[in-house]
Amino acid sequence: MKIVLATKNKGKIAEFSGLFRPLGCEVVSLLDLGDIPTVAEDGATFLDNAVKKAKGYSQATGLIALADDSGLEVDALGGAPGVHSARYAGPEATDEENNAKLLRELEGMGPEQRTCRFKCVLALYAPGGELLTAEGACEGVVAEQPLGDGGFGYDPIFYIPELGRSMAQLTPEEKNRISHRGRAIRELEPRLRDFLAKVGG
Ligand code: IMP
Repeated sequence: MKIVLATKNKGKIAEFSGLFRPLGCEVVSLLDLGDIPTVAEDGATFLDNAVKKAKGYSQATGLIALADDSGLEVDALGGAPGVHSARYAGPEATDEENNAKLLRELEGMGPEQRTCRFKCVLALYAPGGELLTAEGACEGVVAEQPLGDGGFGYDPIFYIPELGRSMAQLTPEEKNRISHRGRAIRELEPRLRDFLAKVGG
């Protein structure tokens, strides 16, 4: 059975391939396939976007497709930046610009007002219309200033009080154990074999 991973991010490709290879699947990504029109991430929720991408790339390739959508929700900002996390400070914004904007928005707020979470939704869509979804979240507090240089995106300002460190100060293994993406993958994993058996006929 062949699966297309609806991403060009090499880190995600490595992580998601590890899900399917033990099940005997052949895994390809958008990096391996030629010109496939981009599916716009214009949904109102992470679930909308993940399902839209999985369905769009499945229909474009005729393969089972796995897509994800993730981002940061800050309670004091009513869930922003949410689905706009990648472009919070503008269409071409860098991670540093997004982080700086968020720190400005929360200026003067104490720790109890800085609660936030990373969320990740995974969607697997088969050409027959079958859909499997999973979700993971990781709770934290927006730090007062960037800490550490690991990870990407909002990791330097995502502080985990129980660990006394930011996400950017964790090793990749430590991050994977608690992260929204790691949790979503582990939620999907036990249901994968049944799903593939069903859609494989
Ligand atoms: P996407 O799901 O790859 O489109 O990610 C959307 C955006 O959410 C990223 O550009 C980051 O800004 C943010 N994001 C998602 N996951 C993480 C994470 O693990 N660490 C830091 N930022 C993240």
